[in-house]
Amino acid sequence: MDSVFASALDSLNKAGKLAEINPRVMELLSRPKRIMDFSIPMKMDDGSFKLFTAYRVHYNDALGPTRDGTRFVPDLTLDEAKALALFMTIKHAVSGVPAGGGKGGVKVDPSKLSDWELERMTRGFIRNLKPKGPKIDIPGADIGTDYRTQSWMLDEYEQITGEHNPPAINDKPAIMGGTVGSAEATGLGIFYVTKAACADNDLDLENAKVVVQGFGQVGATIARYLYDMGTKIIAVSDVSGGFYNEDGLDIPAMQAYVAENRVLEGYKDAETVSNKELLELNCDLLIPAAVQNVINKNNADQINATMIVEAANGPTTPEAEDILKEKGIKVIPDVVANAGGAIVCHYERIQGITDDYWTIDKVENKLENQILTAYRAARDTANEFNTTPRLGAWIVALRKVAKAVEMRGWV
Ligand code: NAD
Repeated sequence: MDSVFASALDSLNKAGKLAEINPRVMELLSRPKRIMDFSIPMKMDDGSFKLFTAYRVHYNDALGPTRDGTRFVPDLTLDEAKALALFMTIKHAVSGVPAGGGKGGVKVDPSKLSDWELERMTRGFIRNLKPKGPKIDIPGADIGTDYRTQSWMLDEYEQITGEHNPPAINDKPAIMGGTVGSAEATGLGIFYVTKAACADNDLDLENAKVVVQGFGQVGATIARYLYDMGTKIIAVSDVSGGFYNEDGLDIPAMQAYVAENRVLEGYKDAETVSNKELLELNCDLLIPAAVQNVINKNNADQINATMIVEAANGPTTPEAEDILKEKGIKVIPDVVANAGGAIVCHYERIQGITDDYWTIDKVENKLENQILTAYRAARDTANEFNTTPRLGAWIVALRKVAKAVEMRGWV
């Protein structure tokens, strides 16, 4: 299945069937509530003109305002934005966040823009999107966006409306009305879930060999948490290629290298491997933390991990998951494993609305409790239905969304 939206619908339909969700709700959830497909006209630094394609998808808002990420990637498609918005609907529901699912972005390679062009394009995204405010839709960060872009987005929104309104944009720095701990939230959530999943499956995490694909905000953070507890990270990669050391990589040194060079390319203290080889390495734990569809029908049979924890959104296709199941490889699904960012965005919203800013201990304690509650609900539901953790998670979420849709009288 090349379409990540088709993969998302596959999980939706399988979970809906198992849990006997109202067919009218299933029909409602078969497509997004609203799609914005728009352009950002821009004069470049050299005086030339470029027109960027942008999307924002509001998938379903029965549980609350749509929220979440903005992707700046060169190959962004509407299919991807729709899938990610559906994942967000499920992720919020399974983790008890009163929000719907939203996602969007711009088809652009941010590394090809000057800082000033990136700022103008980011502000152009907000101007042309005409965001509706924190009670309707809240854009956050994703691949290619960060504290800087989110600060520009909030400032542009506030310039347009003429009022301070921190909860209008997520993933901004604490000084702009954000929350402490937001940069690490997804990685930390994955760390909590990984520890719980390893304990449930008798996998000794401290003595495990771990492979991480993707060394950005999420991949580097989870690699670092595991490294700090003494676990061996035997391979990591980014878009430029992979690095391998059977005795364990020096993750802090690799983070420092990336801070200086933007990518891992050129790192000297390890053997090089391709991204394809990296996914097929013999390991206890494989953590895909880059892009979607990387574990698919072409390589699933060659995966040599005991367990996969999905840090990226949609890294495993449905065909691959069937093969992995046959091989006895457990997959801890994205909608639970990487929900830490979505959960802490909720804390960011509460703080922005109340102007009462929390300590890091409060953020981390609440996150641990909330994400583990979601993990256990998905696990127990999977056991109840004798199905995968992924479908367990989707069933937990679908039941909540269906109830809200029915109570609202939409179907
Ligand atoms: P990022 O841009 O910070 O990092 C992405 C990393 O993946 C980079 O190291 C990049 O070089 C690498 N990469 C890109 N294409 C690759 C490829 N084809 N092969 C190997 N590596 C590749 O992004 P991020 O925020 O770390 O997000 C990573 C994944 O996690 C995405 O799927 C995103 O949707 C998901 N996610 C992110 C968050 C968050 O809070 N940032 C939350 C939930 C899920």
